[in-house]
Amino acid sequence: MVKKRSTTQKKAQARKKVPIKKKIVKKKQTKKRVEVKFIGQVTRIRQTEPATVVEWPRAITHVHTYGMLSPFFEGLKKGELRATQCSNPKCAEKRLWIPPRAHCPDCHTQTVWKALPNPVIGKIYTFTRVVYAGTGIELSTPYWQVDVEIPGLATIPKSYLLYGEPRIGMKVKAEFRKKKPTNTILDYYWVPYEANA
Ligand SMILES: [Zn+2]
Repeated sequence: MVKKRSTTQKKAQARKKVPIKKKIVKKKQTKKRVEVKFIGQVTRIRQTEPATVVEWPRAITHVHTYGMLSPFFEGLKKGELRATQCSNPKCAEKRLWIPPRAHCPDCHTQTVWKALPNPVIGKIYTFTRVVYAGTGIELSTPYWQVDVEIPGLATIPKSYLLYGEPRIGMKVKAEFRKKKPTNTILDYYWVPYEANA
């Protein structure tokens, strides 16, 4: 049985000073906001008409292997346009490939290298005036990108016309940047042939 407390006891307790709980001042934990930061260089607007064109300076080293196509680039240094050809005697595709293919696109047999005899004369199949070149195309603009038909090829490779005005069917001659080569596909180009003939 619970013993009833007397009225006096109750009163005494009421008088008892209730200790103030020490206010614990908790430091407000301010969560640091993590924001995505722009760490690049601000682009400069070059022009706004007829559309916005920005300059986007970047410095990167892109490491790239020419792999099995290395002989093509070695050829350019020597002033040779080299193509590949299927080595499978049973394959119906006897034509040459430029850009070269390490393996025949038809039968997947490894190809062999053939140097085109100089001078390499082609015919302009089509052309485009390039005003804004793609990344990595380090040519002054505007320039003429030309697709040139080369006898014996399965492809119509793209390159550029060093000077002059192109027209469809125009004969052009392949030339090579042997002095200060860029070691890229830019090391061969076309020049008007008829004008030189
Ligand atoms: Zn083949």
